[in-house]
Amino acid sequence: MRRPPDGKRRANPRAAYCDTSGTVYEMPGLEPAFRVGRRFVRVEAADLIKLPFGSELFSMPGRTPVFHDKRNGFTPVGRDAAGVEMWAAASFLCSGYLRTHLPAFVKSADAPELPLWAYAGLVLIDGEFHAPAFRVDEDPRSDPELHLDDAALAAHASEVKERYPENRLVRQLERCATGYRCLCARNFFLGRHEAPLPSSPACNARCLGCLSYQDAGESGFCQSQERLDFAPTPEEIAQVILHHVEKVDSSVASFGQGCEGEPLLRAPDLARAVRLVRAKTDRGTITMNTNGSVPGGVKALIDAGLDSLRISLNSPTEEYYLRYYRPRNYGFDDVKRSLAAALEAGIFVSINLFFLPGFTDMETEVESLCAFLREFPVDMIQARNLNMDPDLYLDKIGFRESEPIGVRAMIGRLREEFPALRIGYYNPAKETFAR
Ligand code: SF4
Repeated sequence: MRRPPDGKRRANPRAAYCDTSGTVYEMPGLEPAFRVGRRFVRVEAADLIKLPFGSELFSMPGRTPVFHDKRNGFTPVGRDAAGVEMWAAASFLCSGYLRTHLPAFVKSADAPELPLWAYAGLVLIDGEFHAPAFRVDEDPRSDPELHLDDAALAAHASEVKERYPENRLVRQLERCATGYRCLCARNFFLGRHEAPLPSSPACNARCLGCLSYQDAGESGFCQSQERLDFAPTPEEIAQVILHHVEKVDSSVASFGQGCEGEPLLRAPDLARAVRLVRAKTDRGTITMNTNGSVPGGVKALIDAGLDSLRISLNSPTEEYYLRYYRPRNYGFDDVKRSLAAALEAGIFVSINLFFLPGFTDMETEVESLCAFLREFPVDMIQARNLNMDPDLYLDKIGFRESEPIGVRAMIGRLREEFPALRIGYYNPAKETFAR
């Protein structure tokens, strides 16, 4: 049995489940099981980490937990010894961590769709919660430990609001920092790391897992935050960027946040904002998180002084991409043209890849990704957990399973085949681009 990264011998992991009120219990007599794609698998203790501070636990309604029984193999158990209904329990990892396995469960026919979270496996070791995951980025910017002091945040936020009383974007960021607990918005007011620049109320895609817009009539769950309902002016945006980059060394300011639509739909205005900033200073890294749908907009922003670009993908495979993004008035070729334009311009380019264990790391997807990276040799992959009901996602994208190689093995393969490729979680500052 492989030893955990800390080399210490560990007690055997204990399976966990919860009741319908969400109370979590240890399952006696059966071993933990996990899922990759639609398969049940077991995991070595060495692949489990103590659940990081600030992570969450979720109950999974209408989902019967599956355990491993030495004699009968993978076994669903719907009621405990007292006849109490059992649901699967899941962990949700805080930022910076990549899950490697899903919780193991069987979904009942009338089970509700799950809200937009990245469900990961959950076990107990020596009475402490553990999860199948690893840290993929050591940058501390979103470590929950750094975001506990709400009083300090409130004081800083009112200072900044007083300084820019007319700036609607500052007021929006206060709503994000306090209402949605957006860690980027909190960092803006606390004067550190990365500041968010939500700027677009509209989008030209209809992602299945969109965090800012869900069609209530269509999906059985709501968006995580309300989409921005106004378009900040280039002057308001430039004021926020200048405030941040003048104050913070190695700072990052990023367009394309979870509370907005697609920033490229406002490329001319955002290019003007970047020009206003670059006319005053070259401090800080101005970056854009985008669906990459408007190559012309990408060019305009690069000409204005954009430092880096991050294009989001659920898959490098066109059919899976189209079924997830459901684009309006653009296609996968537009996304590729945006990537090519950014690479040609020599700015720092990242792919923000949404990981679902058993899909992202299956052989056909890994081959597809490697071919994509040979064609578009980006600088970085930002590895993110897909925040969505795993069964709903696999159903909707028309999942055709191939052999999963494992998320850790996939990352290892990428490191081997693309040694210059950076793998992390956050938009890096330009001071570190060369690393
Ligand atoms: S591109 Fe972004 S804003 Fe647009 S639908 Fe997808 S997740 Fe939502």
